[in-house]
Amino acid sequence: MKENKIEITYKSVAPEELSVDDRELISKAKEMTYRSYAPYSRFHVGAAIRMADGSIVAGSNQENAAYPSGICAERNACWQASALNPGMGMKKIAIAARNVGEMPKGKEDEAKFQSSPISPCGACRQALLEYEHLYGPIEVILFGADNTYVFPSISSLLPFSFTEF
Ligand SMILES: [Zn+2]
Repeated sequence: MKENKIEITYKSVAPEELSVDDRELISKAKEMTYRSYAPYSRFHVGAAIRMADGSIVAGSNQENAAYPSGICAERNACWQASALNPGMGMKKIAIAARNVGEMPKGKEDEAKFQSSPISPCGACRQALLEYEHLYGPIEVILFGADNTYVFPSISSLLPFSFTEF
């Protein structure tokens, strides 16, 4: 028997260390949290994708009374990105979130951003991975008010993924 080990490398980046480009992308992801429809989880997530031509396509989580019918911000964004720009690569994705669960109704917009980064669910990783396999690495920027994590690719977040497509 041989024991194997998988290691990933990611950067922990302080707010002042972020590039102008990344700040813009994060800013869009943050903005999208205000366009979330999440009356059930009250967890507002925004995602913004930097396309190969430099443009940004963004999405937010959209929930539904039939819970499984809702969709995460990351898949909302990458599916929009592919639908609007068929065949175009995605270079980066930034993700931000606000938990409005503690806020009274009508005061949701006052909820602060998560201090620690949140990361995409397994289904979103799998969806993004398909575009990464088609067009090259997608850098992942997980925003936290205190600290932001930067991963070099989706595959670094999803070892042993399903790749037969
Ligand atoms: Zn997800």
